[in-house]
Amino acid sequence: MTVKVPPGALDKVLFKRRLPFEMGTNRLKCPACFNNLTQTQVGSVTVDVCQGGCGGIWFDGFELQRVDEEHEAAGERLLNVQRDERVHVDFSRKRQCPRCTEMILQRHFFSAKRQVEVDECPNCGGYWLDAGELAKIRSEKSQTAAAEKVSQSSVSSEVIRYLYRLRTDSRKSP
Ligand SMILES: [Zn+2]
Ligand SMILES: [Zn+2]
Repeated sequence: MTVKVPPGALDKVLFKRRLPFEMGTNRLKCPACFNNLTQTQVGSVTVDVCQGGCGGIWFDGFELQRVDEEHEAAGERLLNVQRDERVHVDFSRKRQCPRCTEMILQRHFFSAKRQVEVDECPNCGGYWLDAGELAKIRSEKSQTAAAEKVSQSSVSSEVIRYLYRLRTDSRKSP
């Protein structure tokens, strides 16, 4: 007996991506001050912003990478989130992931430069950034990029000098 599979049915099963959460179904709560987060579209990503609260921003997995470099104009809109100065954030308190129930965010340095601390969910890979942290990450990244450019140019001039020396040496030999 043969089972007839309608065309395309198998593709649907194989390629249906399973997300750890339902996108955009209910409003998220701010993990820092418990305000309702506001969905904000910036460029190609939708982030959840604690507007009128502590001014923090929630990025789902891989969203942060799209706005964390200074040349990425989309991220500029997120640098000045309207916030309530009276809201005080307790940085010592453990925070829960706004997406995943019962997952505690893990605080760690964003990069090896150890300038900015961020909260990351070990389950969904999302990031929570407190007010001002995105600006710090963006400036740290541009510093790193500038430093890399400098080291690259010194390497290439070194290489040129080496090649030049090879040429002059080979001319000397008969
Ligand atoms: Zn908040
Ligand atoms: Zn999560």
